[in-house]
Amino acid sequence: MKPVLYIVIPCYNEEEVLPITAPLFLDKINELVKLDKIDDKSRVMFVNDGSKDKTWEIIKELAKSDEHFVGITQSRNRGHQNAVLAGLMEAKELCDITISIDCDGQDDINAMNEMVDAYADGCEIVYGVRSKRDTDTFFKRFTAESFYKLLNNMGAEVVYNHADYRLVSSRVLNEFANYKEVNIFLRGMFPLVGFKSTSVYYERNERIAGESHYPLSKMLSLAFDGITSLSIKPIRMITGLGIIVVLIAIILAIYSVVQHFLGNTTPGWSSLIVAVCGLGGIQLVSLGIIGEYIGKTYMETKNRPRYIISERTYDEEK
Ligand code: UDP
Ligand code: MG
Repeated sequence: MKPVLYIVIPCYNEEEVLPITAPLFLDKINELVKLDKIDDKSRVMFVNDGSKDKTWEIIKELAKSDEHFVGITQSRNRGHQNAVLAGLMEAKELCDITISIDCDGQDDINAMNEMVDAYADGCEIVYGVRSKRDTDTFFKRFTAESFYKLLNNMGAEVVYNHADYRLVSSRVLNEFANYKEVNIFLRGMFPLVGFKSTSVYYERNERIAGESHYPLSKMLSLAFDGITSLSIKPIRMITGLGIIVVLIAIILAIYSVVQHFLGNTTPGWSSLIVAVCGLGGIQLVSLGIIGEYIGKTYMETKNRPRYIISERTYDEEK
């Protein structure tokens, strides 16, 4: 039996790109149906992430124009990760496999053929991995690559150069639904679910139109979320740092006592200031990081919904 595929596409203020890329996704569905790889019940599912422009109107038009297009909208902007999650959770009831991809045409949709083949070969998760970043600016490349290195060094395991272009079977998504956390970092969470997985390599293009919604500030906050929601290594590092500082302080204390008895009375002011500032700084950093985890715990205990779908282009049937 051929699998039903849902291509899940988060869209935030994408009125410029959507009319260009939507037909490409439809062509891909039709091609895969023709190649007998997927069922004709397969769909392109747009998730409007509370856009402020005409994105949702465009999605509704698309849904009217072809039955292969469907759309859902979030009640407000919740961010890329939550939009993808909303789409995946919605789609898992309706299909056998999902492929999540951005709507800006940067990820090569032809890699989907290979992804679907890998699923046919028994893989439940297929990661789309960028083979090179020639089209990115030096700055974007540098920051993006540092991002993956930082994540891995901090104990958040992620597939290098894999963003959110991936195939996931509904079987995996049903298990994934039990990961109830509110702070979500999908690319770091799927490896935790397990199951047989593989990677497919593709070249990343430039954005077809519109602007990136991921400036450095958002990327840093994503990295920070990724680290603090997946690992407690930073807390351990703080503990290690604390131990080193204490050891240094002991050595300094011994040294100053020895100097005192040798009669070398020093003014002592500078060493005092250094100690006060150093320790003060370290304590502030530690408090900040610990506070981050406490804040996360606080958010998690609230158990708020991670997405709210306010409208669909089709009737909800469950
Ligand atoms: N996106 C979203 N909600 C947001 C920001 C972005 O759904 O708050 C979507 C956006 O429409 C796009 C994808 O996430 O489909 C990736 O965003 P973008 O292309 O701006 O990021 P970049 O590729 O530059 O990292
Ligand atoms: Mg993009």
